Amino acid sequence: WAKAEGRGRWALYDPARSERQMIRSALVNALPAALERGEFTVEYQPIVSFDGGTLRAVEALVRWRHPELGTLPPDRFIGLAEETGLIVRLGRWVLEQACAQGAAWHRAYPEARLVVSVNLAVRQANAPGIVEEVARILTDTGLPADLLQLELTESAVMPTAGEPVHSLRGLAATGVRIAIDDFGTGYSNLAYLRRLPIHALKLAGPFIEGLRSGGIADSASLADERIVDALVRLAHALGLTVTAEAVETTEQAELLRALGCDTGQGLLFGAPVPADAITPLLRPFS
Ligand code: C2E
Ligand code: MG
Ligand code: MG
Ligand code: MG
Repeated sequence: WAKAEGRGRWALYDPARSERQMIRSALVNALPAALERGEFTVEYQPIVSFDGGTLRAVEALVRWRHPELGTLPPDRFIGLAEETGLIVRLGRWVLEQACAQGAAWHRAYPEARLVVSVNLAVRQANAPGIVEEVARILTDTGLPADLLQLELTESAVMPTAGEPVHSLRGLAATGVRIAIDDFGTGYSNLAYLRRLPIHALKLAGPFIEGLRSGGIADSASLADERIVDALVRLAHALGLTVTAEAVETTEQAELLRALGCDTGQGLLFGAPVPADAITPLLRPFS
């Protein structure tokens, strides 16, 4: 009967139609309205110092509370938003939200010097006017530039061929921090590491997962430990700070601390949560 109501109607109920396509058309057709309706939300995940356990930063992570599909994690729609170019608009909204929230935290707890870290998609970083846009958002929200960190992936910053994201120097010149996200999962062009205006490395989850996750150190976890050790030394030799992603166990945290890793992020320290749940963590500073 669905077919009788026309092709569009049929397509809507065709089980063969993938969720991916549904999300794609929903994104393309409804993103602006979804933004206006407040279907997107930003959660914040603590980034904590291994040396003392102080809250140093939070990473802004977008979610889509889709009316039919439920809450979608970014992996389900960020790729599509990049393909369609809508990431520029969505990313701008996330940046505005995160900077406004960061500025509010900064006004309430200036001693905390809480850094807000925001993911920047390659396409967004390459969009014309991105440097001016970041500068404008900082001015509009009143967030000090050094309390904003932009996370770019290795492939954006250190391409195997071609040039890195051209806006990188301009972005760094605004005074924001630049971090390389998921470091170690792509092809690291180490020559770029010393030439680019980068402030931090975020070590990818898989290396951290390997750190004595089973309790007994096997040869694979020993290899991961040596890699992390070497990466921390490399980063520090270049004057960069190091954040470990996906820290889930106290064993991992103790090892990372012993290896000199600066900060950690992961379920051990706290899952991504709405902004309101971060605020109480800043109270010790008031
Ligand atoms: P990411 O930037 O590497 O963010 C870290 C991811 O690790 C987050 O996934 C976070 O929830 C997850 N995570 C946190 N703690 C743990 C842990 O202990 N173990 C493990 N295995 N994972 C943990 P999430 O929120 O699903 O985001 C996935 C990716 O989507 C992000 O990876 C980032 O690349 C992208 N993304 C998220 N928000 C944005 C955004 O606003 N703009 C852009 N361009 N990309 C975003
Ligand atoms: Mg990130
Ligand atoms: Mg990451
Ligand atoms: Mg990632």
